Amino acid sequence: MITFRITLLGNLKQKLDRKELLKHDSKIFRISGFSEILNIPPSRLDHGTLDNVYDPNDFLEIVTPSETGEIVIGIMNYKFSDNFYMHRINTNVGIISLYEIDFTLLNAGISIERFILKCIYEIATYIEVYGTMNSDQIYELHHRDTRGCLFDLNGDQKDVVYNTDEPIICNECLGKIAARQTKEGFISTLQHELKKLKRPFFLRVESWIKSHPFMAIAISIAMGIATNIIYDIGKLTAIKIYHIRYPEQQQCIPKKFPQ
Ligand SMILES: [Zn+2]
Repeated sequence: MITFRITLLGNLKQKLDRKELLKHDSKIFRISGFSEILNIPPSRLDHGTLDNVYDPNDFLEIVTPSETGEIVIGIMNYKFSDNFYMHRINTNVGIISLYEIDFTLLNAGISIERFILKCIYEIATYIEVYGTMNSDQIYELHHRDTRGCLFDLNGDQKDVVYNTDEPIICNECLGKIAARQTKEGFISTLQHELKKLKRPFFLRVESWIKSHPFMAIAISIAMGIATNIIYDIGKLTAIKIYHIRYPEQQQCIPKKFPQ
């Protein structure tokens, strides 16, 4: 099993649910714990704005690889110079930038923790399939078109919502992974676990209502009618039972059954 350690870089705007990450149930990886670098050096890039914008290579000096062989995943709010949200720095350090992508995710009802787990599944798959996350071979899994697949390139960062909520492995990527040597059952385990990366039920219902407003109104009306019918049937049945049990008191039954 691959072990990851999450390192918080600088001050995160978002309060992470560490328990959710630590307790994530996976047969592919586990998260061993958290560490932090409170003060990261200012960016050396001169990009003419007040934001800290980093070159991925800056983190070669900032984040120290784990001595115990864990894969270190740095999480930061700062922007990468190429606007990507994840970079593999070397064989055991990856950095995730939440810059602006946090708004995209939270507006779609997707938690930052789910996004981090999605990124970790991506890196874990590289390691399982290619033996390392720092090989150029991994690019064969990437595709520019958005399919809701774990390996969508997400050139437009807004597309990240499509492959963070219940991501899939598309047929093309499945074929490429299946052509490599992996642990027995790896693909089915990965697919099974990715299905669990979905928004809470009420948020999915809310999204469905937003995208099908007329259908939602029709269902609401139908449910209201059905509820009334069920109520009336129940009321009549109760009166009938009362009549059968107490035939002598039929005259005493109030016209209006108690509500
Ligand atoms: Zn794919």
